Amino acid sequence: MTFNQMNQADIEFFTHILGQKYVLNDASDIAQYIQEPRKLYTQFSPCVLKPATVSQVSEIMKYAHGRCLAVIPQGGNTGLVGAQVPKIGGEIILSLSRLSGDIEVSKPTQSLNCGVGNTLAQVQQAALDAGLFFPLSLASEGSCQIGGNIASNAGGTAVLKYGNMRDLVLGLEVVMADGSIWNGLKNLRKDNTGYDLKHLFIGSEGTLGIITKACLKLYAKPKNTTTAFCAIANPDDAVNLLSLAQKNSDNQVTAFEIIPQIGVDFVLKHGQDMRFPLSEAAPWYILMELAADEDKITNILAQAFELELVSDAAIAQNQNQAKQFWRLRHVLSEVQRLEGGSIKHDISVAIADIPEFLKQAANIVEQVIPDARPVPFGHIGDGNLHYNVSQPVDMDKQQFLDQWHELANKIHKLVISFNGSVSAEHGIGQMKFDEMRNIKSEIELKMMRQIKTQFDPRNILNPFKTIPLE
Ligand SMILES: Cc1cc2nc3c(=O)[nH]c(=O)nc-3n(C[C@H](O)[C@H](O)[C@H](O)COP(=O)(O)OP(=O)(O)OC[C@H]3O[C@@H](n4cnc5c(N)ncnc54)[C@H](O)[C@@H]3O)c2cc1C
Repeated sequence: MTFNQMNQADIEFFTHILGQKYVLNDASDIAQYIQEPRKLYTQFSPCVLKPATVSQVSEIMKYAHGRCLAVIPQGGNTGLVGAQVPKIGGEIILSLSRLSGDIEVSKPTQSLNCGVGNTLAQVQQAALDAGLFFPLSLASEGSCQIGGNIASNAGGTAVLKYGNMRDLVLGLEVVMADGSIWNGLKNLRKDNTGYDLKHLFIGSEGTLGIITKACLKLYAKPKNTTTAFCAIANPDDAVNLLSLAQKNSDNQVTAFEIIPQIGVDFVLKHGQDMRFPLSEAAPWYILMELAADEDKITNILAQAFELELVSDAAIAQNQNQAKQFWRLRHVLSEVQRLEGGSIKHDISVAIADIPEFLKQAANIVEQVIPDARPVPFGHIGDGNLHYNVSQPVDMDKQQFLDQWHELANKIHKLVISFNGSVSAEHGIGQMKFDEMRNIKSEIELKMMRQIKTQFDPRNILNPFKTIPLE
């Protein structure tokens, strides 16, 4: 079922609810909302609506449901699979950024209630101001919003110890496709009263409801955090180093990220004020963070040297140094862009399978695009790699990117052969929509379609994304 295009009467209705200032329909005002970070998708939207209250969201949805207008919820617009921008043309963008402020921390329950328009960085800061800690951490945390983090079930660098966004949500308030409001804003750690509905909205990419408020889990702030940058010879050593670090720190490893030498080369070539913390280059590096003091990490590294898992390492001596180590990791995507075209995969396999996966994936790249340069990096501690491939040095960028589909198909087939996931943390959106038919079984597709049809019978919420209805 397809949706209706907006008309002048619709604009007048929305203006009546929100005021003219918050109904954007000038092309130059809309431009920033229809352009996603990778500039891969461009489609037309007739307007951007910017409600400030839950009841405004409800009124908008009630009207859109009656008129069969398509609505795309949007947070910070940092999503990487085109889920938050129009696909067909004519979808309304519902920007939730004004549902911000009002962050309330409860110290006794170690929880935080907030509107979904707050950025992740604002929520992290509010927790810290109250002497607590919200662990979700992404390179986009200054711009991405809590609603987007929930709807995309964001992962990031602290999943190893604290889990992904799904593990950090206690309750939600959601406006449904027909405008009705579900108040599930509980702060309970235990509630076994039937199906846990909040989990349907977490990771639903805006296809089942508009999340307007959230209650999030907080933690005690770790007393000490230590960061080390280690040189290793191969991914097998990374797997063994993680086991050693977990065993000797009582599972206090908070982050465990892998970076290949080619990634460091790109960073040092293109990054500003970047410093390499070791004296010699190595094939691979691990950025490891422990919620423990320096003695613990020194002890782990001493054992790792003895076992020849690590050839060199630097321990950050202060927060500034730790930040410098992290910058090396965070700018990887950015500097890769300056090396020309990049074909990206966000995959996960069991961590023990990562070394073999990397070998076979490199062979595939060489067969499909000889001399293309794999730059696999990321959250190896979660078995999650951003298996990015940079274009051969002398190749035309477009000619390289034209082979995205063929390469991604083969890499994803390899992932499936390892019983892995072709989207570890970024979601499905537009990018992997067609692949859903191949990666999900008939019974999974059937259940997902039934849920979608039940929650959004007119298919107006982020239509033609995430779950193919036929
Ligand atoms: C530099 C960079 C680094 C990144 N690193 C990571 C990373 O480490 N881990 C990771 O998981 N992601 C990462 N991302 C991707 C992205 O930041 C996350 O997916 C983030 O959670 C998206 O939040 P957002 O507010 O920008 O959402 P948007 O991009 O605006 O939207 C994402 C999805 O959520 C839906 N949505 C947004 N708000 C709501 C709402 N209130 N109700 C219902 N649906 C809603 C949208 O329709 C869309 O489907 C990165 C992105 C960038 C640019």
